Amino acid sequence: MANAHPWILGLTGGIGSGKSSASKFFAELGIEVVDADQVARQVVEPGSPALTAIVKRHGGSILDSKDALDRAKLRQIIFNDSNEKLWLNNLLHPLIRTEMLAQLARAQSPYVILEAPLLFENGLEKYCQRTLLIDVQLELQLTRTCERDKLSSEAARAIVAAQMSRSNKVKKADDIISNSGTLAALKNKVKRYHYSYLNRVKLQSPADRQQ
Ligand code: ADP
Repeated sequence: MANAHPWILGLTGGIGSGKSSASKFFAELGIEVVDADQVARQVVEPGSPALTAIVKRHGGSILDSKDALDRAKLRQIIFNDSNEKLWLNNLLHPLIRTEMLAQLARAQSPYVILEAPLLFENGLEKYCQRTLLIDVQLELQLTRTCERDKLSSEAARAIVAAQMSRSNKVKKADDIISNSGTLAALKNKVKRYHYSYLNRVKLQSPADRQQ
């Protein structure tokens, strides 16, 4: 049965910090994960009302050859026009929030993870009982990001610079995992936190969670 008031762990960290790796380890322990970025893509899938609205505003040239949203083109438009950015955010943010909360409520696992690179930037921590930051030093973050995404060091630095600073995230997070060791070390730390979250869930009644 779905849980209308799930116990939600907000999982965050900058690009290349190791969020997806940590999520994968939580999933191996049976915990369901809702990925905020994935939800943001789902609400503009071909055939969705949001994509229809975007095409109505910007014309068919906003679609690629497969009739999917050309994200690069849309990014370019909103980068140059704050009105269009506002219009798009007003359209998408409520849809993303509704869909994200619906997916979280459908979770069957003892607690559920909301994975969001911009958890704090977008105020999503208000939906979470607890937050976990995957933290890594800048140089390691850049190396891992460049390797994974085949980016130049400058491009990776620009993405990191656009996100909330590491020190602010550290201040906001309830729990922090330092991911400067091996993947096996990360897995062990995830396991330890997993058991602590299971204990917390047991101690907190659904009535407390509704607030
Ligand atoms: P994020 O989801 O935060 O962007 P990922 O989990 O995708 O980060 O990690 C970024 C890259 O670094 C991936 O290629 C991943 O395999 C690698 N990585 C993550 N943690 C470690 C680690 N502890 N040791 C070595 N490589 C790692």
